[in-house]
Amino acid sequence: MSTDELADHVAQLSLIDHHVHGVARGPLDRAAFEQLITESDRPMMSTFDSQLGVAIRRHCAPLLGLEPLVSADAYLEARSALDESELSRIFLTATGVSDYLVDTGYSGDLVTSVDELAQLSGSRTHEVVRLEAELEYVAEHESDVSAVPDAFLKRLESRTKGAVGLKSIVAYRHGFGFDPSEPSRAEVLTALDRWYSNRDRLSDPVLLRWLLWTGARRGLPLQLHVGFGDSDLQLDKTNPTLLTEWLRRIEPLGTQVVLLHCYPYHREAGYLAHVFPHVSFDLGLTTMYVGARAATVLAEGLELAPFGKVLYSSDAFGPAELHYLGATLWRRAITAVLGGFVAEGEWSPADAGRVAGLIGRENAVRLYGIGG
Ligand SMILES: [Zn+2]
Repeated sequence: MSTDELADHVAQLSLIDHHVHGVARGPLDRAAFEQLITESDRPMMSTFDSQLGVAIRRHCAPLLGLEPLVSADAYLEARSALDESELSRIFLTATGVSDYLVDTGYSGDLVTSVDELAQLSGSRTHEVVRLEAELEYVAEHESDVSAVPDAFLKRLESRTKGAVGLKSIVAYRHGFGFDPSEPSRAEVLTALDRWYSNRDRLSDPVLLRWLLWTGARRGLPLQLHVGFGDSDLQLDKTNPTLLTEWLRRIEPLGTQVVLLHCYPYHREAGYLAHVFPHVSFDLGLTTMYVGARAATVLAEGLELAPFGKVLYSSDAFGPAELHYLGATLWRRAITAVLGGFVAEGEWSPADAGRVAGLIGRENAVRLYGIGG
């Protein structure tokens, strides 16, 4: 396989996007679009002046019949001539993704449902269920604190019947510096009492780690947000090495843990995937946001990680450009990185092609038992 053949092979790869959200339901004006291409929720100068903004002008403009790197104004003007569902069809059918694993726990009313995403994209979709959202649902419907633990287990069982994974956002709600032990029923009930009396956002570390343990016992792959995200998290508390003792303790359960995004801790994630058989990770969201630097970051992620432990995701939310861009930038980055190893005489072309297939598809097929 020559470098050109590797690029062709990667371009043809049918990807599994193992962490993604729906596309925007309604029309996005300039302000709404610009707000969805940054992780900040504060008013900013044009968010187009960023790696992601340039990548949209470079890679998405041609799909709207524009030259690569047209101005942001020209891009947005062409975009505004189409409605959101037409845009979604254009970008989603160009991603080359066969299966989307959809996290339904974040702002679900703003974006398409799991079924709608399947209709727009023509791809298969599967649900990933958020633990915190399910406990919040139970708390809304159960006034008796002592009934909550059983009600939650029941709810989890019914919600995960057709689901392929679970997700936790403990990184946002507390960070990873929690007691790694499983809380007792008495501790959980005391914490529930406390939460029921103030009804703040669910951020109690006892309840959050109870959810993690309960999720780990459910046996489905458990996704954890790690590192880079919006201003709601404190980055230094999301270093995945803080999870080391918890990972050791849940290892006998046999549940797979998947670390999502990971930047700037992708090297730490690679280390954890290296030493623990039940840990995998991705660079979703990161690949998109670092744009022209995607190959460098991906190469860093591949320093220590076994190649069977790295997955592809976009973590796109909202504009369908992001679903397309995640896939496009990943294909470019993996081709550059693995093609570079081949060009240096360090890897065989066959190895490069095989590893691209593992990361883009086969690792997710094995981990989630989907696709094939
Ligand atoms: Zn996400």
